[in-house]
Amino acid sequence: MESKRIAIFPGSFDPFTKGHEEIALRGAELFDELIIGIGYNTKKKRSFPLEKTIQKIEELFANHPKISVQSYQVLTTTFAEENGAKFILRGLRNTIDMEYENSIAQANRKINGTIETVFLITSPKFGHISSSIVRELHKFGQDLSLFMPYDLD
Ligand code: ADP
Repeated sequence: MESKRIAIFPGSFDPFTKGHEEIALRGAELFDELIIGIGYNTKKKRSFPLEKTIQKIEELFANHPKISVQSYQVLTTTFAEENGAKFILRGLRNTIDMEYENSIAQANRKINGTIETVFLITSPKFGHISSSIVRELHKFGQDLSLFMPYDLD
């Protein structure tokens, strides 16, 4: 029997945006299982708390059997190996993302050449959304419903 095609979708997701949601949903069409991996560094303070983010993402995809979420504190390739994932999914918005993603993907390939990084180009309607802009808006008390797929409560 063929083994399951498992992908991880790694990121900081601080916060998880509508852009991320769309990449996760489209990615889930390509694989048997998609694990959203929140890379977490205890020394780096998040703007949106980890536990709440996990809970909200779980609720968001509660009816989607292929999508789950976990946090991790190891190398992304190690996290993939630990979960039997042969694919890393990333989203691309523009050439700046491309430059950055290119070096990460090449470094990851050096570390573990059996893991393939797969890119999805954002839909234009989400291309302007970035976690850093959402963090900035949050700091100034703006309503985030245009950018985030769930309410903060
Ligand atoms: P990181 O901190 O690792 O860059 P992010 O949480 O910012 O992670 O993003 C995770 C992934 O989602 C990255 O591949 C990033 O390019 C992609 N991404 C972020 N925002 C969008 C968006 N609006 N549309 C598509 N992909 C996106």
